[in-house]
Amino acid sequence: MRTKIIATIGPASNSRQKLSELIEAGVRIFRLNFSHGDATMFEGLIALIRELETEYETPITILQDLSGPKMRIGQLSEDSYTLKKHDRLVLGPSGSEHVRQLPFIPFDVPEIMETLEIGDKIVLADGVLPFRVTEKLDLGAFEIECRNDGFLTSRKGLALPGKPINLPAMTEKDQKDLRDGLRLGVDACALSFVQTAADIEVARKIILESGKNIPIIAKLERQNSVTNLEAILEVTDIIMVARGDLGVECPLPQLPAMQKRIIEACNRAGKPVIVATQMLLSMVNNPVPTRAETTDVANAVLDGTDCLMLSEETAMGNYPVQTVKYMTNIAQEAEKYYFEQERDMTPSKGQATPDFLAYSACLMAEKVEAKALVCHSNSGTSARLLSARRPNQLVHALTPNENVRRALNFSWGVVSDPIDKSIEAHLQRAETFVETSPEFHAGDRVVITAGQPKPGGQARGTNLVKIYHK
Ligand code: ATP
Ligand code: MG
Ligand code: MG
Repeated sequence: MRTKIIATIGPASNSRQKLSELIEAGVRIFRLNFSHGDATMFEGLIALIRELETEYETPITILQDLSGPKMRIGQLSEDSYTLKKHDRLVLGPSGSEHVRQLPFIPFDVPEIMETLEIGDKIVLADGVLPFRVTEKLDLGAFEIECRNDGFLTSRKGLALPGKPINLPAMTEKDQKDLRDGLRLGVDACALSFVQTAADIEVARKIILESGKNIPIIAKLERQNSVTNLEAILEVTDIIMVARGDLGVECPLPQLPAMQKRIIEACNRAGKPVIVATQMLLSMVNNPVPTRAETTDVANAVLDGTDCLMLSEETAMGNYPVQTVKYMTNIAQEAEKYYFEQERDMTPSKGQATPDFLAYSACLMAEKVEAKALVCHSNSGTSARLLSARRPNQLVHALTPNENVRRALNFSWGVVSDPIDKSIEAHLQRAETFVETSPEFHAGDRVVITAGQPKPGGQARGTNLVKIYHK
């Protein structure tokens, strides 16, 4: 299978037995959500995943998901409020309860309260309860009007759909979590509620200061992260279509087309993309998915996603392993159809040499019906460029670096292999790999890309494509 599966770990999967079963079902990336735990909680799990990585002799990626500035309301004065459409309430900082005799919702994020204006739309409880701001009151409070019937309980998420939020993507907690995560050896980190390219730079700085270099995943879950996608793509390594909060911030009917546009932009930029949230949600309780979920997974594959992500399904569901198996089957069937379609992967004129090189390699592989593509890739970039062209052949990435191998777990159709460092020339390393690998038989043709130095010089990145006959 070319599509990669990410499984969120929680109570349903946090054991040696379950993790092993998930690996056997094909999971190579485990997501630890730091909204639901911290380094002390995840330390043992990280060590366990490393043990399993050694046991299974395959790179396993630990993805740290940072919680970000998710805004929540405070404690209500009653267990719950039963609300009717047109009911009026007060939303304000703690201490402003008495500005008007109406049910009160405490909300202590002054940066947000300062930007509120009459007419603004507010949604509470993950998008279930919409409100409109109707009047500015004393003590920084606002009167709001309920736009639907519903129940409200304490500590629910608050979102302002479409409004730019003046909060950095990395909170103090996120910065601490990231430092702790790097110390414990996480292999990738996801930033929640990214809005601009500058948000990514903050995380990048912390990572580089720690002496590491792990990929950053920008989670698109705000309208303006989608608006700023081109700039974000310049600086991020990976994108996640985080449909949970994105579906709260943006009108739900826009979500499918938005997913397609984002995936297309990522494919064009040669950056891996993940589709996340509610992919097989009903499998939390049922051993089979709904027709709609099955179609959703298949469509994400056909849209061109690199990875599919599971959240509740593997974190707290009753059938974590069955869910992964189902997802694998659906993705495999969808890929068959994907390969039947015409795909134009021609780079446009302005693109760089490596893009043309990757394109030529994929074209050759297709025309000579090669068994595989093999690339020597120190940083993983060449492998990602090949993957971005979505060739019919698997891409074998040969790399000396264990972290690069873990990062390549995010890339569609890429498998990685260690290299024989006793051989100096990269091309020869790749040829030796083909000669010795039991995956290739005499007579097989393989397209190799590698870097060849000028005589007497250093290797200067990938500059060579070759058809190799075993
Ligand atoms: P996000 O917006 O970051 O996706 P979330 O609350 O939706 O946050 P998920 O990681 O998507 O969280 O997981 C779905 C649910 O699984 C969580 O709401 C939580 O109930 C449960 N869960 C996930 N990870 C853990 C964990 N480490 N411990 C306990 N429960 C967890
Ligand atoms: Mg989150
Ligand atoms: Mg979620």
